[in-house]
Amino acid sequence: MTFTTRFAPSPTGPLHLGHAYSAMLAHDMAKESGGAFLLRIEDIDGSRARPDWEQQIYDDLEWLGLDWSLPVMRQSDRLATYRETINQLWWDKFLYRCDCNRRDIAQAASAPQEGAPLLGPDGVIYPGTCRNAVLERDHYPIPAPDSAALRLDMSSVPNGVAHEGIFSFTETGLGPDEETGKIEFDMSEVSREIGDIVLARKDMGTSYHLSVVLDDAAQGITHVIRGQDLFEATKIHVILQRLLGLPTPTYHHHELIRDEQGKRLAKRDDARAISKYRANGYSPADIRKMVGLPC
Ligand code: GLU
Repeated sequence: MTFTTRFAPSPTGPLHLGHAYSAMLAHDMAKESGGAFLLRIEDIDGSRARPDWEQQIYDDLEWLGLDWSLPVMRQSDRLATYRETINQLWWDKFLYRCDCNRRDIAQAASAPQEGAPLLGPDGVIYPGTCRNAVLERDHYPIPAPDSAALRLDMSSVPNGVAHEGIFSFTETGLGPDEETGKIEFDMSEVSREIGDIVLARKDMGTSYHLSVVLDDAAQGITHVIRGQDLFEATKIHVILQRLLGLPTPTYHHHELIRDEQGKRLAKRDDARAISKYRANGYSPADIRKMVGLPC
């Protein structure tokens, strides 16, 4: 199988040094293996994605000297595909509707008997308030996309989708606690540390997790190269891959580029935008040096 990787930015702000590192590392690894480097624009958040940021992504990547195989995948072109999978999961009774807002969840999760709210890869672990509305799930058609969020009922994930109850993936980089090699986790860990995640957000009819898993499979991605901040989310992705009968790529999580205070760079951190460095006379080789990649 040809080594195939991708860079998957969201066009919600300028690319910064951290994005440049991720994209160049993936591009280098693809070239070293004689493989393919693909691009995917993750623009499902219609309220934040903007065409001018998308154009800026192409300009920045080109300036950095990267080339990618065409066509570029855009998530906004794939909403019908995401919906099809959501429908299927609904009819297979893996999903339930959830009408809780952030405040309801925070309150229920920090009720006195629960102690401090537990945090998972997707924020506060959902305390399961709407899970028992089983009648709704059994007897009603799927809620209209903009009427409610749909959550994955982790307790309905059949044991058989994991190998003897154990999920695993291969990590060739490092997790935040230096996890590497074969990473294993089991169903009880999933319920306890991840909980029932939202697969279809009310405002977008899908979610980052569902889209990324479907897209990686559709693009034939064999190696996912991305920041360590997504290491824990990989567990969600592996569960979804098993549930949907999709292959699990090899994962390579890399360290995050941080500022002088040790804080990871954010989109609003304009000072480290690639376009700023370019305007200030830096060269792509300078950028490679700054993030510690060979020229
Ligand atoms: N779109 C995500 C981001 O910009 C990256 C997702 C991924 O690489 O899986 O952080």
